[in-house]
Amino acid sequence: MSQQLPIALRAKQYGNKTAIIDNSTSYTYYQLLSHSGQLAAALLNGTTDLCEARIAFLCPSNYSYVATQWAIWQGGGVAVPLCPTHPLAEIQYIINDCQAQMVVAHRQFEALLAPIAAQYPIFWVDELMLTANTIEPIILLPDIALNRRAMMLYTSGTTGKPKGVVLTHHNLIAQITCLISAWEWQDTDVIPHFLPLHHTHGIVNKLCCALWAGATCYMLPRFDAHEVWNALQNIPFTLFMAVPTIYSKLIAEWQKAPADQQQQWSAACGHLRLMVSGSAALPISVLEQWQQISGHVLLERYGMTEIGMALSNPYRGKRTAGLVGKPLPGVSVQIVDDAGIPIETLNTPAELWVKGDNVFLEYWNRPAETEKAFTNGWFKTGDVVMRLLEGYKIVGRLSTDIIKVGGYKVSALEIEETLRTHANILDCCVVGIPDTTWGERIAAAVVLQNPNETITINQLRDFCATQLANYKLPSVLNIAPDLPRNAMGKVLKPEVKTWFKG
Ligand code: AMP
Repeated sequence: MSQQLPIALRAKQYGNKTAIIDNSTSYTYYQLLSHSGQLAAALLNGTTDLCEARIAFLCPSNYSYVATQWAIWQGGGVAVPLCPTHPLAEIQYIINDCQAQMVVAHRQFEALLAPIAAQYPIFWVDELMLTANTIEPIILLPDIALNRRAMMLYTSGTTGKPKGVVLTHHNLIAQITCLISAWEWQDTDVIPHFLPLHHTHGIVNKLCCALWAGATCYMLPRFDAHEVWNALQNIPFTLFMAVPTIYSKLIAEWQKAPADQQQQWSAACGHLRLMVSGSAALPISVLEQWQQISGHVLLERYGMTEIGMALSNPYRGKRTAGLVGKPLPGVSVQIVDDAGIPIETLNTPAELWVKGDNVFLEYWNRPAETEKAFTNGWFKTGDVVMRLLEGYKIVGRLSTDIIKVGGYKVSALEIEETLRTHANILDCCVVGIPDTTWGERIAAAVVLQNPNETITINQLRDFCATQLANYKLPSVLNIAPDLPRNAMGKVLKPEVKTWFKG
């Protein structure tokens, strides 16, 4: 099946409706189509199809990001979003790992990319291109079969370095349309966007769903609790989606505010028809405080980079605190015991397996890991869940090596690898410890090469910051004479976790 991309076909129908607002400038669907079409023509540079070339792109959270992503899609490339706040080493790792044929970057990142600019073909995007006249693209854009690769998102795995999760157009459409129907997206919806744009939550749930529905996405350059509250007060948003950490920060900001301000902010939540939380466990205390402040019972859902969203509390009907709801339309799930036998009984914790058009194609260039991730077409999530009558409950990760910090998934192994490059670290172990604001915090236990030369947590963070994104930096340190290990020599992480209690 070969055709023009459905998201672009839909945009044509929405025409002069507002698609994106950033920094007080509005862009219509027609402008988005035209600008991304012109950019696609420039990327094609005389060829007829980018033929799934991986194109890594680095744009700020504004219209330039959307136009670039659509240009890559319309030209037939695979969009690989990069995160502007990551250190250059991480950006370069992704460019190399996805074997990018080209990097598209906004001019504002010229200085950031300067040290590597000579190594890659870089196509610079500037505001001029995005304010050009809206004309039909001068060349015909390719027809794109929906089973072609569309996007690659980097996610941390148990094997250390992040791996590229490949999603086809078909996968993306399945992930988008199930949310459109479950959460009743309308073309009258208006949503604020302040989440990172290299993660499924920000890309699929917020941006792509909004543009599929013909809604308006209001892009903020970053999350700032005060600014988000003010935006809520000034703009009649209908939808709001965030990770639990953001709700905690909004609660803290509200608590700091004078009484009249609190009242105005709370009243502003009355415009909203739905507020969603996900990407990490929502503490019940946060759900309850948020209800008091905003009047909204947060809708908690569960998903993953590899599958988009799988489970959701209902849009209409009772939402149960502590549960993530039931399977979304088109998503099949089962809970499976260690032998791979489905468990039908309630309240029995076991691994969640997921099947459906929403499930990703492969880990890029990692056939063995892709194969290991599936059994009979079921994707094995690595999350332990329990089925209750009212819905599913997330119990925890099968592996202790994935830590969730403020909605980000962090690989303990990757941090350990970095710590091990420190001249005075002989051995180390990284674990996640519970934290009411962040979900989990990163704790590092280290054995020193030279115990007379101690290390502080700040020195350790400075050391890691040159190699790792900010959210991956340990925030607690324990210096130990040795690490506990099992007979196979594996560190006993549950025991190490107990060192950080209290
Ligand atoms: P990511 O691929 O970065 O979106 O991370 C996916 C992981 O986040 C899942 O495998 C879960 O471990 C966790 N997760 C997502 N949503 C929830 C939720 N509502 N409650 C608990 N954990 C969640």
